[in-house]
Amino acid sequence: MTDRRDNPSDEDSPSGEDSLIARYFRPLATDPGAFDLGDDAAVLQALGDDIVVTTDAIVEGVHFLAIDPPDSIARKALRVNLSDLAAKGATPAGFVLTLALRSADHAWLASFARGLAEDIDLFGCPLLGGDTVSTPGPLMISITAFGRVPGGKMVRRNGAKPGDRVVVTGTIGDAVLGLDSLKGGAVATALAGDAAANQMLVGRYRVPQPRSALAKAVRDHAHAAMDVSDGLAGDLAKLCAASGVSAAIDAQSIPFSAAAAALLARGTVGVEALVSGGDDYEILCAIPEACFEIFARDADLAGVAVTSIGTVIAGASPPRFLDGQGREIALARRSYSHF
Ligand code: ADP
Ligand code: MG
Repeated sequence: MTDRRDNPSDEDSPSGEDSLIARYFRPLATDPGAFDLGDDAAVLQALGDDIVVTTDAIVEGVHFLAIDPPDSIARKALRVNLSDLAAKGATPAGFVLTLALRSADHAWLASFARGLAEDIDLFGCPLLGGDTVSTPGPLMISITAFGRVPGGKMVRRNGAKPGDRVVVTGTIGDAVLGLDSLKGGAVATALAGDAAANQMLVGRYRVPQPRSALAKAVRDHAHAAMDVSDGLAGDLAKLCAASGVSAAIDAQSIPFSAAAAALLARGTVGVEALVSGGDDYEILCAIPEACFEIFARDADLAGVAVTSIGTVIAGASPPRFLDGQGREIALARRSYSHF
């Protein structure tokens, strides 16, 4: 994994990279399969399960801001992956971490490692290894996470059937409002006198809440699932396209936080911005009508709020979002896209 090329600092301190790894990451790699980060690779025991694999990179200036606290950057890097595992019905099994750093900033690394350590414990997802490289460009953190499901049980995007309920966890649109606030946009102005709401929204942008507690209920009941990372409207369109169906969404039943609902009522933002902004990291799933009650009960026991927002219908057109009068809300934009 190492490519030292002609790094001049290597001669002065040949163990710079190794000591950085030993100092900040070895203490976190307590799983026996990580071999104290003293080998070329780690072992993840299959234990008869399917191993679900997912990867997500986050880049400074794109997924987080340079001013974000390093511990929250670490949490976000891990949690966006845990969100994918949860949506697939998988239990976290471990992850590897690739860091591209401009410099070895010790205060930054200490805070980053602290945030990571806390989430490793919180979600029971051990650090198995990684790679550490230097970059002249923006900071990049890439995590590949592994999860477990019983053989053949990973929940795909492609199983939604007409008549299924469209269900989402948590609330939609908070993170995009938090980002707007951090950037000094209209939300920052509107919430100038409401520090608590502002802090909640910024927190939703900086530290996603992966719905890991819902993984088993998703695995047990969902026909199809995915996590909402690029905007509810666009991600629902992806799920519908993969399943060969369409959907009718009652916009009034989409769960918004009190802060988001207030900004909507004041006209600071429109529904479109909330359903097409990214970074929600909620689970979107299709639940057969007959299972909805028991799914809702399992979700309740897991402590995860779930809301039915519409119905899967036959057809190939993109999902329609309907207002209180049943009129379609035109969506010029459905999701965040990098290109
Ligand atoms: P190699 O020289 O064999 O490619 P490295 O020097 O890249 O190995 O890594 C040495 C050990 O440290 C390996 O076990 C690797 O998984 C681990 N490691 C390197 N960077 C990280 C990181 N950012 N986080 C966790 N483990 C890391
Ligand atoms: Mg290396």
